[in-house]
Amino acid sequence: SPFNELGLSKPILRAIADAGYITPTPIQLKAIPQILCGSDLLAGAQTGTGKTAGFTLPILQLLSQKKATSLGKGRPRCLILTPTRELAAQVEESVKTYGKYLSLTSSVIFGGISINPQIMRLRKPLDILVATPGRLLDHVGQRTLDLSGIEILVLDEADRMLDMGFIHDIKKILALLPKQRQSLLFSATFSDEIRALAATLLRNPTFVEV
Ligand code: AMP
Repeated sequence: SPFNELGLSKPILRAIADAGYITPTPIQLKAIPQILCGSDLLAGAQTGTGKTAGFTLPILQLLSQKKATSLGKGRPRCLILTPTRELAAQVEESVKTYGKYLSLTSSVIFGGISINPQIMRLRKPLDILVATPGRLLDHVGQRTLDLSGIEILVLDEADRMLDMGFIHDIKKILALLPKQRQSLLFSATFSDEIRALAATLLRNPTFVEV
């Protein structure tokens, strides 16, 4: 399939075929090779463009190529931040779907439900964590989550996160992450505020837009 030319590994291509995808969408064509080569990314893409696979596919590949340095209990290697719990749940579902032939682990954390099952889950190995900002900081405060091992950060629907007033939470979270990491920012719109946020968290980003 045309997905073959993007540099994705066999287990990921098999999961894509299972999902019934034939052709990469424009955002996938532009973003996947850039993410695979380690570049930071500023991406302009709306919901419905296939942006979720655009970042989850290459992230799965990068993490499966590189061995984890610790067991990863409560210490994920990739953090994907989303504005809402619905989006967080959807993104984690995508991670599981596209990663079904890999041995990476994932979990999702959001507010509005009991924190205890999430704490239990964080005691087990975890490569990819999808989270909303407020509940994520609750876990950091309770020391059930350690963000010092983050290799890849994604801000999904960053404009909506700012609209919902998450800027202070995001800044607190950024301060807890290693400086040496790959960062990806997805947004449907580009206000001055988004550009300022991008400037604080991205390093020599590639800009892609669809
Ligand atoms: P998103 O924009 O990430 O919310 O994705 C929108 C929808 O497109 C989801 O239901 C995906 O399953 C689907 N999708 C993503 N990539 C492809 C593709 N390359 N071919 C067909 N459907 C896709």
